[in-house]
Amino acid sequence: MTATTSETGTPVLPLILAEVEVRRVERLTPAFVRIELGADALADFGVDGPLYDQRIKLLFPGPHGLPDLNDPALQGPGWWQAWQAMPEETRGCVRTYTIRDVVGTGTDTRIVVDFVLHLAEGATGPGSLWAAEAKIGDRIGLLAPRKGFPYGGIEFAPGVAQRLLLVGDETAVPAVASILEDLPDDAAGKVYLEVPSDGDVLDLRVPAGVQLAWLPRNGARHGERACKAVLALFNLQYDADEQVEVIDPDLWETPTYSSSGEEIEPGSEPAGGLYAWVAGEAAMVTRLRRHLVRDAGLDRKQVAFMGYWRIGVAMKS
Ligand SMILES: Cc1cc2nc3c(=O)[nH]c(=O)nc-3n(C[C@H](O)[C@H](O)[C@H](O)COP(=O)(O)OP(=O)(O)OC[C@H]3O[C@@H](n4cnc5c(N)ncnc54)[C@H](O)[C@@H]3O)c2cc1C
Repeated sequence: MTATTSETGTPVLPLILAEVEVRRVERLTPAFVRIELGADALADFGVDGPLYDQRIKLLFPGPHGLPDLNDPALQGPGWWQAWQAMPEETRGCVRTYTIRDVVGTGTDTRIVVDFVLHLAEGATGPGSLWAAEAKIGDRIGLLAPRKGFPYGGIEFAPGVAQRLLLVGDETAVPAVASILEDLPDDAAGKVYLEVPSDGDVLDLRVPAGVQLAWLPRNGARHGERACKAVLALFNLQYDADEQVEVIDPDLWETPTYSSSGEEIEPGSEPAGGLYAWVAGEAAMVTRLRRHLVRDAGLDRKQVAFMGYWRIGVAMKS
């Protein structure tokens, strides 16, 4: 993305790249902490239409803290190249999160993010660690949509589908919660959300025609409960011994993009029927994709399969 020019002739980035401050912290459940992030720069935040699963990037301080995001090199036309040229220790650690909500207006606009805490030994990273200790006044960096400019980052696109199938693990709960809030009252479908424990079940807005099933793992293998429930819906058996090789840890298969290089048919007709949106740990998503596309025959143009994270792998910026 290149910078563009404001009415006054000053260059403006077509997105917000700014330092934000923690304004509120709420421990929702054992696994979720809700954090409100604010900054004057968020007065320019805006998305054309509903937020749905709008993703953003957060920058967590590296060993040398955060870079100066007001540096003209990062706020000008060559910001991306300037960013890439920084050593990783200076750039900070970039991770992807979902906008759970936006509250306040003008310079008091705050972006709400629900962080999953994964604090088990050897299974945590800069995002989870920062969220676990966050307190009012702490600062991180944010990349988010700027009002009036295309940003992308919304995958939920059911078109004219009459029924929805939404499946996610805890990392996709914020996205599904936001999608559910933005759905029309007459939406219909099924939602399966696998979370670490009984205590992580949240109170969400759900349209009357949508059935939401919470699937607490309570120690079961990650993805097992979600896969079993979804496969049963299509009369398919869950095989605990099935080998699921995650060839693509950045698995991202949507009607408009394929991380595996699958051919995308351009300009296809909108289809009715079922639209499936599946996000979470890459092995869970890979398994569901295999069975829903191959065995249940779901139309490639009516599904979005997104690996949000991968067991044992730190996400790349
Ligand atoms: C589009 C998109 C939207 C997302 N939205 C959210 C969101 O709203 N909230 C949210 O919390 N996450 C969200 N995620 C997932 C988040 O980006 C990853 O979980 C990320 O790995 C967290 O970074 P980290 O620095 O904590 O861990 P990393 O440094 O990436 O990983 C370190 C270790 O932690 C493990 N790990 C990572 N995530 C988890 C987890 N959830 N449970 C257990 N172990 C884990 C890894 O396997 C690795 O071993 C989203 C991801 C994408 C792609």
